[in-house]
Parts: sequence; structure tokens; C-alpha cells
Amino acid sequence: MFRYDEKVLKDQLLELIRLAATDLPVDVVDAIKAARQNEPEGSAARNVFGMLLKNIDLARDESTPICQDTGTNIYLVYIPEGVSMRKLTALIKEATVEAVDKSYLRPNAVDSLTGKNSGNNIGEGQPFIHFEEWDEDHIEFKLMLKGGGCENVSTQYKLPDVGLGAGRDLDGVYKVIVDAVNAAQGLGCAPGILGIGIGGDRTSSHLAAKTQLFRKITDTNGNPELAELEARLKGDLNELGVGPMGFGGNTTVLAVKMGALHRLPASFFVSISYMCWAYRRHSMTLKAGGEVSYD
Ligand code: SF4
Repeated sequence: MFRYDEKVLKDQLLELIRLAATDLPVDVVDAIKAARQNEPEGSAARNVFGMLLKNIDLARDESTPICQDTGTNIYLVYIPEGVSMRKLTALIKEATVEAVDKSYLRPNAVDSLTGKNSGNNIGEGQPFIHFEEWDEDHIEFKLMLKGGGCENVSTQYKLPDVGLGAGRDLDGVYKVIVDAVNAAQGLGCAPGILGIGIGGDRTSSHLAAKTQLFRKITDTNGNPELAELEARLKGDLNELGVGPMGFGGNTTVLAVKMGALHRLPASFFVSISYMCWAYRRHSMTLKAGGEVSYD
């Protein structure tokens, strides 16, 4: 039986939220630094990247949010057999309320019918928590904070798309992704990171797209065909010249990450989850006995 101290785990989850909100992961910071180096001295793009890096350092040093929109809190939680999802959900919510009190998170949960903000970031479907059971003997909490601006330019296509000349194949997938990034110009706080879900139904396709965003920027897709397409799209999208925050430049996307699901014969969805430069994600591993590590 997997045991943990509830009060201790709540505090450990609070630290996970603090890290996610205030400390951009190393792979993301390295990608932004490399993008800055890839812009000419004195250019608007180089200056924007410089400002982003200063902002990132300041947020980490002062434990303040990297962006004022602390986004939707998206959790993927992997649990061994027998762990209560209900109890973990309650602890995540408790930690969330405390994170708002400490100003790590902005109260971001608005009742869609009344327009009233709940004031503590808790509401129907907020935070979003997806559980999966696995064979490992530890729990892994993955947390991503996804801002509203980039979520608004996330989208879903249904292939074939006659207007774009996009058929039901990887060439069609390529075409709709280029279309989505073109449409997002000036919005969504570029450079973006694209999580792509190919196939599935409308719901599972979006979840697959968001799950891709938990990969490291530097990793390589295990599927050679998708690995090739990720690299090609990254190169081609960076030729669009949108640049950081739409100021023009050599980096429009930092990465493209793709996953594929089986689909119905009648459907072929491509979901595009657009993440902004404030690519806030961290994870926490909890071993039986209470030892934790953060990544
Ligand atoms: S899209 Fe990202 S960087 Fe832009 S305001 Fe929202 S959270 Fe902040």
C-alpha cells in the first residue's frame, strides 16, 4: 500500500506549483538563449529575447510569476495501483488555494454562466487533472501552466481540408500546422511550442496534443517519421519570420512535438496546442515513504 503524509504532500505540491509559476525549465531557457544568439545585434528580435531572459531571471530570483496570466493548471498524474485519485485531487486543490494566497497563482477560475471569479483558482474543471495508472511504484505529478493567449490560438482541424489542399496523410498534417501558425501571427506570445495530436476523437486528440507539451524541447520523437516531420516543421515555420512576440525574426517556434492516436475510419483530426514562450512546466516524483524530487 502506497502511504504518504497528507500535510507534507500538500506542501510538496505547493512547491511544485511555485516552481512551475516562477522557474522556467532549463531546456526552455536554453532554447530562448540560443534563439537570442541567432538574431543580429541591435535587432528588435534580439532585444525582445533579452527582455524575456531578464524577466525569467527576475521571476526565479524573486519567486514571482513569470507572466501575470498564470494560466490553466494542467496536471497529468501517474499513480500505482490502489492510490486514491479522490484524495490526491483534494490535496492538489488545497495546494492551489494556498498558491493563490501566496501569489504564485492568479485567481483564474471564472464561472462561465455568471462571470464571477471564484477567487481561489478552484472551479468546475479547474484545475484540470488527468490520472493514469501505471506499473511503477511511485507517483509522478506533471504540472503545466498554460496561458489564455496561447490557448486561444490553439485549434483543431478535420482532414481532409479542401481549402488548404490538405489530405488525410502527413502532408495534410503539415499543411494545417503551417496554416495554424500563420493564423496565430501576433497572438499567443511567440515563439511558440507546438504540441500536436494526430488522430483520436475530438477530445482525445486535444489531450494527446497537450501531453506532447510535457516532453523536453531537446528530446527526439521515438517514431522516425514523426521525428523527421517535427524537425522539418520547426525549420520551415522559422522561415515565416514572425519572430518573438510578432516583432519579426528567425525564431517563430522553439519546438514541434507530435503524437498519433488511432482514429475512426470516418474521422481524421489534427489538434494543435500552441504554448507561448512562458512554457511553464515542472514535475514531481513521490516515492513511497515520502521522498520527493523535482524536475
Ligand atoms: S500567452 Fe503566455 S506569455 Fe502571453 S500573456 Fe498568456 S501566459 Fe503570458
